[in-house]
Amino acid sequence: MTRTIDSASAIVIGGGMIGCSIALDLLRAGVQTTLFDKGKLLQEASTAAAGMLGAQVEIHHPGAFYELCRFSQSIYKGWTEELEQCSGLSAQYIERGILRIAYNEEDEAELRSRLSWMQDAEWIDSGTIRSLEPGVAYGERGGLHFAKDHQIHPVHTARALEAALRREGCTIHEESPVFGLIEKNGRICGIRTAGEEHYADHIVLASGAWASALTEPFGLSLPIFPVKGQCISVRLPSPIIEHTVFTKGCYVVPKMDGSLLIGATQEEAGYDKKAHVSVIAALYRRAVELLPELAEAELVSTWAGLRPGTRDELPFIGTSSRLPGLIIAAGHYRNGILLAPATGKLIKQIVLGEAPSVDLSAFNPDRVLNLTP
Ligand code: FAD
Repeated sequence: MTRTIDSASAIVIGGGMIGCSIALDLLRAGVQTTLFDKGKLLQEASTAAAGMLGAQVEIHHPGAFYELCRFSQSIYKGWTEELEQCSGLSAQYIERGILRIAYNEEDEAELRSRLSWMQDAEWIDSGTIRSLEPGVAYGERGGLHFAKDHQIHPVHTARALEAALRREGCTIHEESPVFGLIEKNGRICGIRTAGEEHYADHIVLASGAWASALTEPFGLSLPIFPVKGQCISVRLPSPIIEHTVFTKGCYVVPKMDGSLLIGATQEEAGYDKKAHVSVIAALYRRAVELLPELAEAELVSTWAGLRPGTRDELPFIGTSSRLPGLIIAAGHYRNGILLAPATGKLIKQIVLGEAPSVDLSAFNPDRVLNLTP
């Protein structure tokens, strides 16, 4: 039996880092917010991530996406401090940058080209790499030092974010998949869960790699798809690196508890989240080539997560003329941890009718209409 059980000012579909960040900003702005997740909060890509805040390491071209990443990086520390104050839990923010080691001639050329437009990137030669991180086995070609690409621990930040949300009074429905959007008078105004309808003034779609399933019935085919990433966590008796060390196809991130996170593969394998021995072994070999001391490491765990990929590698942030009433915040691909604070703030600005802090035209969901018949 279908029944209408409540009315809220905003409904957020998806309780990953993006949906939770949006919900928290909306609540703090006085918007009554209800969050739905098909499972438990923060159990998908957001806690499978490495936690790099890589506004420099991840970006290959100047432009709107770089500016968005830099904006989020600039507000990140304050965001985690607020979460920590509200929750009493540490986000495990580490203010140490990334060494991006040049892998081959082509990789070196690409890295050097970034110096012409990228802020906060410094070229380092092999001697500097050795003095900063003596355990790195190769580095003859030099590399880039991104001093501002700090990191958090996604699992700890997620715990702090969830505790803050509950403390701010968010209405949370876990194990409540949203099966459809409700349209009335040409506007999206509600959602359907199992046997229930919920209505709100604003509906926000933040369901990561699953987002397109809800827009497709309305003719908006968002090209969002899962990109699997497999990771390894290992431990050694004493620290072997202080910076995150990143090269083509592999990175090693030292965490506050002494573990080292090795990541990550990139596979288009549907919604399969199994970690595979052969793939994990190949990733581990690559990490040992980079940091030979890893050969002695104790295995802590392996896992896989599903990044919400997009064909142009840009997120969708904003509204679509095809679906008035729906606000979309999905497709953050490799940078959703970094982009969570900015996305929360920007969606709050859209809901309140304020001018966004950064130009969102490059992330407009309508850019896909040219591709859909
Ligand atoms: P998710 O965390 O996947 O959350 C989506 C939520 O929506 C889920 O909880 C899901 O259950 C829910 N949902 C889906 N469908 C429905 C429905 N119909 N109804 C209700 N709920 C629904 N990013 C960085 O910035 N730095 C990194 O170092 C980094 N490393 C990464 C390493 C790996 C191995 C992976 C996999 C990702 C990494 N990322 C990184 C990317 C980052 O994890 C993602 O971009 C980010 O987590 C996306 O957040 P999200 O909230 O959109 O998605």
